Amino acid sequence: MARVTASGPPETPVTRRAARALREEADGRARDTRSDDARAFSPFVLPDDLVGPDMRPASLARPGGPPAGVFAPRHAGRRRLTRAGVVGVIAVAGVLLAGSTAAVTALVSGAQPAAVAATAPVLEPPPNVDRLPVPRVEQKPVSNDICAKPDVIAALEAHDDAGAILAAGGGEAFRAAVAAGAASCVDLDDPTRLWVVVNKHRQYVPIDYWPAGLMFPDGVRSLEGGSLRSDASAAMTAMVTAAREAGVGEIALLSAFRSYPSQEDTYGRHVAARGQEGADQVSARPGYSEHQSGLAGDVVPCAGTCGSLDDLAGSPQGDWVAAHSWEYGWIVRYADGATDVTGYLPEPWHLRYIGPELARTYHDGAWTSLEAFFGLEAAPNYVE
Ligand SMILES: [Zn+2]
Repeated sequence: MARVTASGPPETPVTRRAARALREEADGRARDTRSDDARAFSPFVLPDDLVGPDMRPASLARPGGPPAGVFAPRHAGRRRLTRAGVVGVIAVAGVLLAGSTAAVTALVSGAQPAAVAATAPVLEPPPNVDRLPVPRVEQKPVSNDICAKPDVIAALEAHDDAGAILAAGGGEAFRAAVAAGAASCVDLDDPTRLWVVVNKHRQYVPIDYWPAGLMFPDGVRSLEGGSLRSDASAAMTAMVTAAREAGVGEIALLSAFRSYPSQEDTYGRHVAARGQEGADQVSARPGYSEHQSGLAGDVVPCAGTCGSLDDLAGSPQGDWVAAHSWEYGWIVRYADGATDVTGYLPEPWHLRYIGPELARTYHDGAWTSLEAFFGLEAAPNYVE
């Protein structure tokens, strides 16, 4: 009775010859791939390789397995690793003898393990190979210096902030480069820039800085005569218009630009009412207020008459501002839960204009402070 195997038809002389041809072809391919093996060398896989028992092609190791000449993936991988393992043992032994960090780096980067092998004294695996130290390799960060890009520099020189962000690769690329310290051309202290950061550690230079191009936003009720820089003004108009069209009601501007002298008055009133410590939680000292940049506005809800700042939270307008202001380039600068970073109690009404590109990035990353966004230190208190 014919013996039937589960793996395929019984072998005939013809199929045996074919199998041998395939094996020889496969062996040829294996020889051809040795240089690839060398390139794939990694000392990290060494211990497993050494204990792996199966160094034969799958066709020889498992007669009932895949057809002759075809390596099962597991065996093919092990075969490759085993070759690499032998090279690895030689290489690591050479490294241990040399005691050179540079050699480790060269090896791990795949640079010419054969050259190191030439210096190795033995071909046998060393004892206690399982306990060979794993080399520590310092990864060099990929260069992300946006200031090396001519288009970024050109946009900065043209004072085209949005263009600079675009040339840097977009809002997230810009943010990441700044936060990583790879953007020496981006000055977070420059109050003329969209990305200026003003906080209790970062006062204006000059301290009585006064922005150019202030204007009242079209179509926005401005309760205290608040003006904004022209780009922020247009963005306030766009946001208030969108809220009205969305059916959430009117949003008015209570307070916007405040000069150094007017901030002296504002802060002084808070100190008189609640003492300096209390005032510092709700009002900036003169020279430290975002309002002085012309890029910040406090908004209130209106329904015929307008409410107070405290009325915004929980109003339809407040909910809409929290969800959509970023679409117009604004962020809620003093967020709930960020007091330890910003130094201010939550102010859902205080909006800061950073432009649509950065505001989108801020929103998408669920950031809650500009300090964290740009990788800056927390600034909960003034540096006395
Ligand atoms: Zn404010």
